[in-house]
Amino acid sequence: MYLKRLEIQGFKSFADKINLEFNSGITSVVGPNGSGKSNVADAVRWVLGEQSAKTLRGTKMEDVIFAGTEHRKAMGLAEVSLTIDNSTHTLPIEFDEVTVTRRVYRSGESEYFINKTLCRLKDIHELFLDTGIGKDGYSIIGQGRVDEILSTKSEERRHIFEEASGIMKYKVRKQEAEKKLDLTEQNLVRINDIISELE
Ligand code: ATP
Repeated sequence: MYLKRLEIQGFKSFADKINLEFNSGITSVVGPNGSGKSNVADAVRWVLGEQSAKTLRGTKMEDVIFAGTEHRKAMGLAEVSLTIDNSTHTLPIEFDEVTVTRRVYRSGESEYFINKTLCRLKDIHELFLDTGIGKDGYSIIGQGRVDEILSTKSEERRHIFEEASGIMKYKVRKQEAEKKLDLTEQNLVRINDIISELE
């Protein structure tokens, strides 16, 4: 499994559509200050479902949409697609190539797609769970992240090891099941109340 392609349009400084192909080996992104190198990493974070505008170096989510320049009008939507080679079937999906797409409009409305099929953010999270690729994964190590990892509480650090060891999906499923159990227990209490009122 490897990152194959990144298509960006209307995202931050990339008004026109750009298509970045990644080959095997190391890829470096070089360019002068302010030319958009970090915006490429932001695009990857964003398409994987990042919800924090601060992590994306903005104040609100709308800030990711191309804001216009002296010579060019602002755009109404931003779209990023990330394609992963899944011929090893590491991602739990039948396709050999998986493209996740995120789109956001100025109205704030967001859309997610897996291989061009509309999906929920939850589906994107589930797809990447335990692969290290998701938005909380360790595949993107931002500036200062190493220090952050070393200085965080052991409990928070455990989160990273859980993702790496592949048990995160079971933890998430357990939490969901516990939530359902809680709801069912509440419903039972309510039903018992009604029964005792009727008796
Ligand atoms: P450095 O080497 O200094 O870290 P960089 O190459 O990583 O720089 P970025 O931080 O990726 O550069 O890009 C910054 C540029 O992106 C700035 O010129 C900024 O104006 C532009 N930019 C950010 N958000 C938007 C937006 N929504 N619309 C238009 N341009 C934007």
